[in-house]
Amino acid sequence: DLLLDVARVRRDFPILDREVHGKPLVYLDNAATSQTPSQVIEVFEDYYERYNANIHRGLHTLADEATAAYEGTRETVRAFLGAAETREIVFTRGTTEAINLVAGSWGRANLGEGDEVLISRLEHHSNIVPWQLLSAEKGFTLKVIPVDERGVLDQAAYRDLISERTRLVAVNHVSNALGTVNPVADMAKVAHQHGALILVDGAQGAPHQQVDVRELDVDFYAFSGHKVYGPTGVGVLYGRAELLEAMPPWQGGGEMIATVSFDAPTTFAGIPHKFEAGTPAIAEVIALGRALQWVGEIGLPLIGAWEQRLLQHATESVSRIDGLRLIGTAPDKAGVLSFVVEGAHAQDIGLLIDQLGVAIRTGHHCAQPLLASFGVDATCRASFAAYNTPEEVDVFVDGLERVVGMLR
Ligand code: PMP
Repeated sequence: DLLLDVARVRRDFPILDREVHGKPLVYLDNAATSQTPSQVIEVFEDYYERYNANIHRGLHTLADEATAAYEGTRETVRAFLGAAETREIVFTRGTTEAINLVAGSWGRANLGEGDEVLISRLEHHSNIVPWQLLSAEKGFTLKVIPVDERGVLDQAAYRDLISERTRLVAVNHVSNALGTVNPVADMAKVAHQHGALILVDGAQGAPHQQVDVRELDVDFYAFSGHKVYGPTGVGVLYGRAELLEAMPPWQGGGEMIATVSFDAPTTFAGIPHKFEAGTPAIAEVIALGRALQWVGEIGLPLIGAWEQRLLQHATESVSRIDGLRLIGTAPDKAGVLSFVVEGAHAQDIGLLIDQLGVAIRTGHHCAQPLLASFGVDATCRASFAAYNTPEEVDVFVDGLERVVGMLR
């Protein structure tokens, strides 16, 4: 039924051949960072061996080639997100920087006392702390949409909390800690009915499902390259053109200006360049483009369906472990399995299972308020990608059973 040829997918990832503590690597920390296919790694060699040059400013051949590849990636990203125009795509260092850009530019210009910003208890710290910092500076009120015991956002509470004072709703597409998929299209509709904008943290959305920012009708969408088979150091902010145009510059410097003078006001470049001060991560941006092509060659619907199969297999398999409690049981979940085990601390499980070659994440997953609502301060988290296999899930669950036996 599933056409994903996982053996073929795995051949693209040299790192999957390595051993850890003498055991084959089983990499299940994909929500933190996905691995990188050789096609993406090769972009770096090609760039630095053939056309390394600063973009936009040069008239020489190398600068032209680098600029064409960099700007060409903007079109790749536009198509990946279903955006209307390439100028709606801003390259950033990652999701964190994209959210800080919206807070620092749109937020600082538009938010003040009497205004409200709605976030949720499901958020990663990167969609909490920028709003807390700005709220302290500008005096607006930050309100939090609660989650239920499954880790599902309480939509009734959302409708109660939102009002004419709400200027922005900022929520993630998919929770990194639990895997909960949020109904962002519905939430966008409600936000717009109240005259609010909606920002979606898509760090965990973009890697697992086809995103269409126009279909979702969201105003801002952010994601990171390193979670979608691309490199670190690069990410994307999508923003609706009219919003980006009205927003003041965020960081100042080269590349983002039209003219600089001491005698007249400095003027700024058009979007998206107004928000890309300084030399960007050129090779990383180009490599991100290759990663998104790689994803497109397999197809996100197929990747998502494969991950669902792994999730289902893992969820069934861990149920045999005594005292294991799943944290996050939303009906609509991406490939994330978060859990705690009675009598075995998450950190100890993580350390011991690493000895078996299995990489999972343990800790608060940058979501301390969320974990607190479940009465825990750490979970173990296994998260899946296109190259994981049911056999790896078995190695993980067998290992988990052994490790838990040792700890109790
Ligand atoms: N939001 C979510 C939901 C995430 O999972 C992450 C990364 N763990 C981030 C934001 C931050 O992404 P980055 O560290 O790449 O900026």
